[in-house]
Order: sequence, then structure tokens, then C-alpha cells
Amino acid sequence: MESEEDQMEEPIPAIALPVVTEPPKIHRLHESVVNRIAAGEVIQRPHSAVKELVENSLDAASTSINVVVKDGGLKLIQVSDDGHGIRDIGTLRKMQYEDLPILCERHTTSKLSRFEDLQSIKSMGFRGEALASMTYVGHVAVTTITKGQLHGYRVSYRDGVMEHEPKPCAAVKGTQIMIENLFYNMTARRKTLQNSADDYPKIVDLLSRFAIHHINVSFSCRKHGAARADVHSVATASRLDAIRAVYGVSVARNLMKIEVSDDDPSSSVFEMDGFISNSNYTSRKTTMVLFINDRLVECSALKRAIEIVYAATLPKASKPFIYMSVILPPMHVDVNVHPTKREVVDPTSSSPVATTKDSSMNASASGMKGIKSQKVPVNKMVRTDSQDPAGRLHAYLQVKPPSNYEQSSSLTSVRSSIRQRRNPKESSDLTSIEELIDDIEKNCHSVLLDIVRHCTYIGMADDVFALLQHNTQLYLANVVNLSKELMYQQVLRRFAHFNAIQLSDPAPLLELITMALKEEDLDPECNEKDELKEKIAEMNTELLKTKTEMLEEYFCIYVDSDGNLSRLPVILDQYTPDMDRLPEFLLCLGNDVDWEDEKSCLQSIAAALGNFYAMHPPLLPNPSGDGLEFYKRRKSSGSPHAEENISKDAEDHVTNDGIEHELVAEAENSWAQREWSIQHVLFPSMRLFLKPPTSLAANGTFVQVASLEKLYKIFERC
Ligand code: ADP
Ligand code: MG
Repeated sequence: MESEEDQMEEPIPAIALPVVTEPPKIHRLHESVVNRIAAGEVIQRPHSAVKELVENSLDAASTSINVVVKDGGLKLIQVSDDGHGIRDIGTLRKMQYEDLPILCERHTTSKLSRFEDLQSIKSMGFRGEALASMTYVGHVAVTTITKGQLHGYRVSYRDGVMEHEPKPCAAVKGTQIMIENLFYNMTARRKTLQNSADDYPKIVDLLSRFAIHHINVSFSCRKHGAARADVHSVATASRLDAIRAVYGVSVARNLMKIEVSDDDPSSSVFEMDGFISNSNYTSRKTTMVLFINDRLVECSALKRAIEIVYAATLPKASKPFIYMSVILPPMHVDVNVHPTKREVVDPTSSSPVATTKDSSMNASASGMKGIKSQKVPVNKMVRTDSQDPAGRLHAYLQVKPPSNYEQSSSLTSVRSSIRQRRNPKESSDLTSIEELIDDIEKNCHSVLLDIVRHCTYIGMADDVFALLQHNTQLYLANVVNLSKELMYQQVLRRFAHFNAIQLSDPAPLLELITMALKEEDLDPECNEKDELKEKIAEMNTELLKTKTEMLEEYFCIYVDSDGNLSRLPVILDQYTPDMDRLPEFLLCLGNDVDWEDEKSCLQSIAAALGNFYAMHPPLLPNPSGDGLEFYKRRKSSGSPHAEENISKDAEDHVTNDGIEHELVAEAENSWAQREWSIQHVLFPSMRLFLKPPTSLAANGTFVQVASLEKLYKIFERC
């Protein structure tokens, strides 16, 4: 038998269309065709049916919801709850069936009467379409019992109507809905579903999400015939407990609570709370569970934005875990924008989601210590356009061209900021800077330029050399030299226009310079020199204090009147220098800069910054390999000098194997961070900005190790 669905899906011939002389006749589609088309939209896959059924159970105030699935949901989906049930027999006139006969008709619902109710709707369902749709694409059976009844009723449905009178049966509190043979009459869809991976993992994922949000409800989900449930949660008062039960201990122990809210009717009114993973969490896949007004929704743009923040902040390319629950005033949420209610939209006010993104960026950038509430300035608020047909959450995260009115005002501000950038305070249009930049251009080595532009980074060969491939050649390249040069060039290019790195604790120049002088000295025994060193340090500090204005204006190096350093420049985005090298840098500023001649002064400061920001190997030896000895020696034998350096605290952490594990962990972390920066910051920026000077061609920065042609020749002989 050929169903209507099959006829509908008949491919339209690409050529040889009959020449139509008259307009084709318009006719009304048969109701069953209309219903089945609509049903296909509401129930797109087995997991969308499960979502509808579970939402119905939640709407029925259930405290326990159990799901059984067979064959990815195509053979059977069964959802049982202990909710209020469905009215069956009339209370006034006995033997008059109440709601069961119309339960599965389209647009029959107990949740909405007037359109206006949609504005304040709290239930998840309201269209009265889900059950009806299921009867058009599957076989539906309902068993239900309401409070005070001695027995329940069971009835099955097909195409929106009861197949028979409700049959009395034994039943436990609540409702059980069973869908068998989903899409039995939609051959094409069934075939695609059968060919693709089955929906069961998606169903498990769905139930997991519900379980961590509705923590006062217990959920279970299992395959038909399986003894063990794949999701099993019990009602609890703690969200973290629920997350632990569903996603496991390893997730729950690496989460941080987040909370943001705003209550300003002129900008936004919302509350958001949730949990996000910290830097110890590792996963290759992002898990983002988002509820808006208790509705499980998706927002891939927000997810992507958060992923970017994590990727930019964490050296281990781990993807985050996010659970967020956003509460908005119901009248601000249009729940009716998506056929499966997968997306909702806030059509009037500003976007809490954008705020969330902003705040989470702050949180992660500031070491992820929690999210602070932050208001979005009006010019940054992103609104949906009435012409955007879907009106989806995504719209909030894409900056759209503002309206004419907004355009003129924001245009002025953009213009003025560009003007400012182009013509900064006269002083920074210094000819010496132009000359230094010209020198870089003139000095650029074209072959090396081609290599850095087009090379592929393979990995670190040792502490200093990276392995690169350029066309058929393999090179070793010294990343310390390369990064030093790149930083130097960038300081000149960003001259007087730096963003700032704010130090969490201002650093006292005097102490740091003294420290650097002592470290420089190879003979630590000699105390006599200490006095001299302190003098030198004092003089250097005083000298730098007289230069604060220019250091701040040109290089964003901010020293306050007490001689504390609190700000450093951002030379490459997403990169902060190794603070262990700060003392050395300050000493160099004091000692090595020629403050008299403008050009060489600026050049030497840029070079000092270049050296400070270069990607040197961390001061702690690399614990993988020979470096591990360092962490042993300090405890067991060790020189008296090394012994001295071990604080009481550190000694406590030395375990029986004689290794300082905490120090090893710290070292591992700095080595991993450096490697991350080399791959993700240094190489991409080099490709864009570095003009390699000719000196790099001769000083061993680049070493050609092999050419593939030659290697092939060798292999050919083998
Ligand atoms: P909607 O949820 O949009 O109202 P549905 O087709 O999903 O439409 O359900 C129709 C009606 O059936 C609901 O309004 C509700 O009154 C009733 N119903 C469905 N499932 C359950 C359930 N598990 N427990 C109690 N009532 C239910
Ligand atoms: Mg429903």
C-alpha cells in the first residue's frame, strides 16, 4: 500500500515539466494529511517525543518520572509518572467519559484558554499538539488514574481519536503513556532514523538534563529489558548532589557556582544561577544545560561564546561543563517561537544572555573566581530584529546593524575613537618610533618571512627549539629568539596604545630590583656587597620613579608614587609574561636603558620588554625527563644552598619518594602553559606580524634539519 506520505515525497522531475496553460487548481488538503505534516514537525525524532511526554509529566506535578525505551524509541517509548492523572469518568453524571475522548485531538489542552494566557504561561505545554501528533505518527496507549478512584482506565488512540471505549484496569497513581512503532507510516523518516545512530543516547542526555534541573523529581531512564537504569536520580535538595548522581563525581567536584541578576526595568530584569567547570575539569566535549524559565532550551551561539572564553583562558584545551538556569519575567519570553519549543525568545528587554556571556568572560579572565553581575551598556545591547523570522536566541549574540537612530550616535562614538587612535596624543607620533619601524621593514629577510608566514608548527623538540614544516623542509626554530623579536616589534607597533595587564598585587620596585641584583651575584656568601646592592637598587628605583610618566604613556608600565608597579602592557593578546622574570626586567630598565637619546631609549625599553615577554623556558626545570632530578636532590642530598631554600612548608610536602610533588605540579603547569602559548599565541601571531630580521638567518635561530625530498631518496634505497 502506498501511503500519502510516500506520494508527497515523490521527487519532482527536474525536466520535461508539462507546459501549463491554465493555473493549477487549489484544493483543500485532507485533514489527515494536514495533521500528519504538522505531527512530523512537532515530533521530529524519538527524543522529541520523549521530551514532550516528560514535560507533560512535569506539568502534571509528578515527583517521579520513569522512561523505558526500545530500539532507540522507534519500537517503544514508555513514560510513567505519579502525577495528577487525566480525568476519566465524570463526577456529576456517572459513566460519562470526561477528558479521555478528546485527549489526543489536536489543540485540546488543559493549560491554556485564551491567547493572552500565553504571556504568563508557566506550564511547559500549551498547544495541545503533542499527544495528537504522536497518534498520527505512532500507536499511542494511555493508562491513567486520578485521585480517589478505585481503578484506572486504559485506552489507545489512532489519528487523534480513541480506538475503543476506555477500559477499566488496575493502575498505580499517575499516568503511563506508551508509544509504539513511531513513524510507522512515514517511510522516509523511519528509514533515515534506522540508518543513523539510534536516539537512545540523546534520550539519556535529555533525561540527565531534566534531572539536574528538576531536582525535586526523581528520574530514571533505561532500555527495555535492561536491569540497570542509565539515568537514575532521586529527589534531593542539593543541585550539586543531583549533578553528582547524573554526571558523576569527576564533574561535580570541579564545578563553581555562578550567580548573576539584574533588577533594573530600564535595562534588564533577570536572575541567573548555575554551575560552571573550573580549570581542573577536563573533557573533550562541551556539556551545556540551559533552562530559561524552567524550559530546557538550546542556544548554540551562547555555547560557542563560552567555549571560546574557555579555550582562550585554559591551556589544556578542555571543553566546559555549564548548567545555567535563567529566570525572566514571563511576559518577556515568547515561548511560542519554535515548533518543538526548543528555543524561546525575550522580545522586549535587553539580553541576559549577552550579560551572562560578558560576565562569564570576566570570570574566566580573572582566574574564574566567580561571576560578577555586570550591566551591558546600551550601545552594546543586541536586539532581535522584527525581520528575523525565527527570532531566536542567537540573535542576541550577533551584533546587528543598529537602527538609524542608534546608528548616528554610535557612529559618532566609533569615529571619534578611530580618530583618537589615528591621532593619539601628539607625543606618540614620534619620528624615532617611525624610524624604528622602518628599520624593521628594511631589515626583513624575505625567505624567513615566507617560512614564518606559511610554516606548520609540529611541536617542541626540546626546551627551546620548535619543529616546523615549511613546504618539504623541516626546521628547528628557536622560540625564545623568535618570541623576543616578535614582542620587540609589537611593542613598537602598539606604542602608546597598549591595553593593560593589571597586577593583582602591586609589586614594590625596590624589593624586586634588590632581588634581581642578588640573583645576579654568583657569590651569595659575600654579605659585604649587600649594602652596595641596596644602594644600587635604591638609585634605580628613584631613577624609574622619575620616568613614570613616559613609561605609563608610551608603554603602559604603571609605577605609583610609592614605587609600586601595578600595570604592564598587553603585547600579544591572551599572553601574560612569566612574572618570575619581572625583577630582571626592572633591573634592566634601570641599568641598561640609555635615557638621554630618544631613539635608543625607546628601542632599549622595547628590547627589555621583548626580553621579559619572550617565551623563555620556565625557571623551574622541566620535570619530564632529566629535570625530575632537581626535585629529588633538593630533599635528599642537595647543596647547602639548595637546602636553605626549602621552606618548612615545602618540606612538609615531600613524600617518601623524596620528590616535592607540589613543586613538580607547579612546574608541570608552567611548562604546559608555555607550550600552549607557543602553539596558540606565538605561532599564529608570528604568521601575522613578525618581520624576521636578517640576523635571525645567521645566528642559529633557524636550523634546517631535513628535506623530505632527500628523506624520500634515502627511503627509496631501503
Ligand atoms: P499540552 O501539553 O500542550 O497541553 P499535550 O498534547 O501534550 O498538550 O497534552 C494534552 C493534555 O493532556 C494536557 O493539557 C494535559 O491536560 C493532559 N496530559 C498529558 N499528559 C499528561 C500526564 N502525564 N498527566 C496528566 N495529564 C496529562
Ligand atoms: Mg504537552
